[in-house]
Amino acid sequence: MNIQHNIESERMTFWERIYLPEIGRGLALTFKQMFQPTFTRQYPEEKWIPTGSYRGRPVLVLEEEGERCVACGLCSRVCPALAIEVRAAETDKVKERYPEKFEINMLRCIYCGFCEEVCPEEAIIMSKDYELVFTNPQDAILGKDKLLIPIAQLQDRLEFLRQYR
Ligand code: SF4
Ligand code: SF4
Repeated sequence: MNIQHNIESERMTFWERIYLPEIGRGLALTFKQMFQPTFTRQYPEEKWIPTGSYRGRPVLVLEEEGERCVACGLCSRVCPALAIEVRAAETDKVKERYPEKFEINMLRCIYCGFCEEVCPEEAIIMSKDYELVFTNPQDAILGKDKLLIPIAQLQDRLEFLRQYR
C-alpha cells in the first residue's frame, strides 16, 4: 500500500513529462548569461598569475649562499610517484652535504606537495609555474639547472607556508 502510494506521488505531471517549461527555463538562463561579464582569459597573451596557495611544479630554493637542500633524501623517499632522484655529496660548507644530482621527472609528478611538506630545510617548494610543455620524455626530467630558483621569486609561496603550515 505504502509502495503504491510512493509510486503515485513520484509520477511526473503533464508539464514535467513534456519538458517544455524546463527547456524554457534553461534557455532563459542561457540568454541571461549572454549579458553577464565574460571570464574568458586570452591565454597565452593574458597570463594567469596564481596566488601563493597554488601548487605548480616543485622547485629548489636558491639563496645567496647557494642551494638550501642538504640532500637528506626525505623528499625522494616520500614521493608517491617516485619522481625525485637525489645523489648526495660532501661539501666544506657548514651544512656538510649538498645534492650533487637532483632531478624531478615531471611526467611522474602528481603535484601532491608531499616533498615540500617533509623537507626539513624548506628547500623544495611548490612554485607558481604551470607552463610545462615537453616534446620528448627526456626534456621532462628537470635537473638542478631548471629546478634552482632564486628565493626572491618564491616569496609568495614561502609566506603562504609560514602562515598556514
Ligand atoms: S609534488 Fe608529489 S609527486 Fe611531485 S615530486 Fe613532490 S612528492 Fe613527488
Ligand atoms: S629538498 Fe629537502 S627533503 Fe629533499 S633532499 Fe633536499 S633537504 Fe632533503
